[in-house]
Parts: sequence; structure tokens; C-alpha cells
Amino acid sequence: MPNMLTLALSKGRIFKETLPLLKAAGIEPIDDPETSRKLILDTNQPDVRLIIVRASDVPSYVEFGGADIGVAGKDVLLEHPEADLYEPVDLRIACCKLMTAGRVNEDPIKGRLKVATKFVESTRRFYAQQGQQVDIIKLYGSMELAPLVGLADRIVDVVDTGNTLRANGLVPMEHIAEISSRLVVNKASMKMKHTRIQQFISQIREAVKEQQND
Ligand code: AMP
Repeated sequence: MPNMLTLALSKGRIFKETLPLLKAAGIEPIDDPETSRKLILDTNQPDVRLIIVRASDVPSYVEFGGADIGVAGKDVLLEHPEADLYEPVDLRIACCKLMTAGRVNEDPIKGRLKVATKFVESTRRFYAQQGQQVDIIKLYGSMELAPLVGLADRIVDVVDTGNTLRANGLVPMEHIAEISSRLVVNKASMKMKHTRIQQFISQIREAVKEQQND
């Protein structure tokens, strides 16, 4: 179908919080991605389908045309500053903060600061702005562990309630960025499917406004 709209979403929090916005735009998935193994989900609208991808893959799917539209966390987008995408709407969902954190009672740090993170690009930029030279260690998960076993002095991670940090004897320290999920759009799709995508963007903008007024 030439005018098919493909939307890339990740499972979990982003999917759950995007659903009410899609519903307000008249789009409802037929299958539940949390129970279905399907990676392409049909919706009640024959010209709209959802694809389920890893959160960190959303910018690539949208930039290179695997999807017309996607929902990506600002944390993920900040890691891809070169991605050639439109970012027309702040959806104001999955809100959290990108922060540095360290041990509650840390010993004085000798030598260069070691920072463990999966957010290498944001971390590099943050410490460069501070004029501080640091060694960055790339991790893919369980960052909280790194300061506890002496792998790093600090971590950079997304923080919501801070409970995960506290449960591991860590405290949030510096605030790097406010994070929320954004609608991203492929540039060629925006030209080729202009009317359909503009209509979708307006509906989503309205839904975000209404959700903020609730
Ligand atoms: P917290 O509420 O601070 O204990 O957050 C629990 C964990 O969920 C943290 O370690 C984060 O990695 C993750 N997290 C919290 N908020 C978000 C978000 N908006 N996007 C992605 N991951 C998140």
C-alpha cells in the first residue's frame, strides 16, 4: 500500500504511554506487543501499522526509511546527534532526567574520573563542557554496579524516582538533561506522505495538549 504509515515503537513504558496518544489519533493496535511475538502489528486503520524495535534502534529505522514515524526517548536521540530526522513533537511521556551519580560516601577520587554509562555521547559532551577530562567506560546495562565494584567513580544514567540509585547506595549528583519521548519523522516520508503525516502530527499535538490539561 503506497500510502501505508509505519510507526516504530519500543516495548514497555514508551509503548504503554504512547497508546493513549495513538488512540486519540484514532489508531488502536489489534495485538498486544507484551503478549504477542509479532514484530509488525496491524491496527484498526488499514493504512497504519506498528513495528516493535529496540528503543535505541528507533532513530535508525526512521532515518533510513524502515518506518515513517517513530517514538524515541530524548536520551536515545542525544546519542545520535548526526541523525537526519524531523523531531516535530515533544510527547511529554516517559519523563525522567539524565544525571551523573556516585557513591553516597565516596573516597576522594585520585587521577582522572572514570565514568561508566550507556550514554557515551551525552557523557562526553557534558564533561567536555565542564572542561573536565574523564575516561568513559561503555556499558549496556546494570550501570549502578560499576561504582560498587570499583569499575568506575561515577555513572551517567536516566533517573526517575531515584529509587534504583538509592537501593544501590548511590546518589544523583549533576543534572545533564531533561528527558521525554519525542515523535520523529523520516524526511522523505514527510515530503511524500505530507497530508497524511501532517494530519497525524496535528492529532498527536492535540492529544498531548489535552493530556497536559488533565
Ligand atoms: P528510578 O525510578 O529512578 O528508580 O528508575 C528505575 C530505572 O528505570 C532506572 O535505572 C532507569 O534506567 C529506568 N528509567 C526510568 N525512567 C526511564 C525513562 N523515562 N526511560 C528509560 N528508562 C527509564
